[in-house]
Amino acid sequence: MTSLDTLAVHAGRGDLSALGVHALPLDFSTTNPLPSIGLGGDSYESMATGGHPTEGGLVYQRLWNPTVARFEEGLATLERTEAAVAFSTGMASITASVLAAVAEHSGSGRHVIAVRPLYGGTDHLLASGTLGVETTFCAADEVAAHVRADTCLVVLETPANPTLKLVDIAAVVGAAGAVPVLVDNTFATPVLQNPAELGAALVLHSATKYIGGHGDAMGGIVACDERWAGALRRVRAVTGALLHPMGAYLLHRGLATLPLRMRAQQEGASKLATWLVEHPGVGDVFYPGLPECDPLQLVGRQLRGPGAVLAFRVEGGYAAATRVTEAVALFTHAVSLGGVDSLIQHPAALTHRPVASEAKPHDDLLRLSIGLEDAEDLCADLAQALAAAR
Ligand code: PLP
Repeated sequence: MTSLDTLAVHAGRGDLSALGVHALPLDFSTTNPLPSIGLGGDSYESMATGGHPTEGGLVYQRLWNPTVARFEEGLATLERTEAAVAFSTGMASITASVLAAVAEHSGSGRHVIAVRPLYGGTDHLLASGTLGVETTFCAADEVAAHVRADTCLVVLETPANPTLKLVDIAAVVGAAGAVPVLVDNTFATPVLQNPAELGAALVLHSATKYIGGHGDAMGGIVACDERWAGALRRVRAVTGALLHPMGAYLLHRGLATLPLRMRAQQEGASKLATWLVEHPGVGDVFYPGLPECDPLQLVGRQLRGPGAVLAFRVEGGYAAATRVTEAVALFTHAVSLGGVDSLIQHPAALTHRPVASEAKPHDDLLRLSIGLEDAEDLCADLAQALAAAR
């Protein structure tokens, strides 16, 4: 099997030589010339119902764009799935996945099971009822008990935002039975984990994070089989949450360095986690590479490495956490994650603000996304910020 490093550089670029170009071409056309009404109409029909363009052409950017399609092919290759469908943001891809799951359920079932913790935006979307679904939130080992005839989807994240909790994907897929399982693979990326190989029907990424990797492009993408891709494209065609070609270009370019960045950022995160565990100003540290955070021993079995996000509790509560975020100099105090520069943020006040109180993170918890800086420089920055907070 071709290695991931090689695939990351070449995936989705198979047509470039024939086009006579070396870099990814950017196609901004919002509309495309049609050979005839009949052929154009046939192609429109094919794409609006979830299929591919026919000889009638691409018709309209909301239905198909070559730059976006190349990125989709690239990510599907890395996730080892038949297809992938890209959206304007990670949240748009979660929205489309839920709507597609309702449409694909034999009785249009509108019940979703969501394994907590989840990214605050996902939790809020599902809890709010905005999409017309009823959501049962539960722990991973409670999924089987909550499956109903109208359950159309199980949603989980692993490692989960913000506490890096790990979920045994194959166990949840088994517990869900015939119900499709969506795994948000944003934190692991295809470099560390391929949920489709463990039975997940839908593998979702906020591409805004590691896939782009530079904090300058938003996007979401779902890797899946062709049947689910058709369902997702149907939703995308009518709801319109398509990825802009410029975003697709930047995200596709990000794939080439993804394995390299993940490994380097993970190495830095491992060093920081070990250092934080020993620090007197720090309480619990949450990182999949620490044995106490991986009771099911999923690192090595399901997850090829612990990743580059970690979280920790600050001695001194919310006030001390606030002072740490104000005192850091190398870390940027900002939401988001997965970029080449390190970020620090307070989940309870920011990314997980809309989450119900029973599932809200502790207010002394800070989340770190480790970038490509030297780990010792990052430790020194945190050391001075923790000293300032005491
Ligand atoms: N999933 C996870 C795990 C996330 O962390 C985020 C954003 O932080 C999202 C989904 C939503 O993605 P986006 O911000 O691209 O809409």
